[in-house]
Amino acid sequence: MNEENLRANYQKIDEKIRKAAERSGRKREDIKLLAVSKTQSSAEIKALKELGVCCFGENRVQELEEKDAELKSEDIVIDWHFVGHLQRNKVKYLMRMENCKMIESVDSFRLAKEVNKRARKNDRIIPVLIQINIAEDDNKYGIKAENAEDFFKKIIKFKNLEIKGLMTILPYLDDEETLRKYFKELKNLFDYLSENIKVLTELSMGMTNDYQIAIEEGATIVRIGRALFGEREY
Ligand SMILES: *Cc1c(COP(=O)(O)O)cnc(C)c1O
Repeated sequence: MNEENLRANYQKIDEKIRKAAERSGRKREDIKLLAVSKTQSSAEIKALKELGVCCFGENRVQELEEKDAELKSEDIVIDWHFVGHLQRNKVKYLMRMENCKMIESVDSFRLAKEVNKRARKNDRIIPVLIQINIAEDDNKYGIKAENAEDFFKKIIKFKNLEIKGLMTILPYLDDEETLRKYFKELKNLFDYLSENIKVLTELSMGMTNDYQIAIEEGATIVRIGRALFGEREY
């Protein structure tokens, strides 16, 4: 996609985020736009960074490493969030990238343990989100809401993880009321854990189809791919 189109898409989304934030009594700066750049080129990432996008999301470790190397060769350092299902044997590659700033998709105890171990080896503390399968969708990873409190209490002992909040990926749905119901459920869980275990600051929910609803319901991070870059070509 050319730079003009990227700019136009970015400005449209930025404005929609601002309005949705206002509807929820917040400001534009309270919401982070994570550009999900999977399948997109380093040139597009570079253009969006120049427009002011702060951080980018990828869901495959190898693709992330390739783009990061390309961009670093041009002296561009991106703040990355990992957003996909993470295999334990790939964690070591992520944890040696200093500019991998967050893992949004911690979805099992064994993964949390491995991330902690590799973070410790690299002498760092990695911010993470717990992925919750709030819709109990069989096709999605994530901890069930009813197990979230136990899971949180089990992984809080890992000193090289900084648990910042929750993330969810909803199934593709057309029905606004159902989407809203799931976002509300996740926000309630977020508030409950925040009050009872440890203060949480990040709630990552909402993608191209539903980010405005997610913001109205309390999202602090929206992960947007297609609305920015156009349809993905695999
Ligand atoms: C691809 C992806 C997104 C972005 O989805 P769009 O519908 O393109 O906005 C967000 N989150 C995750 C985890 C993804 O894999």
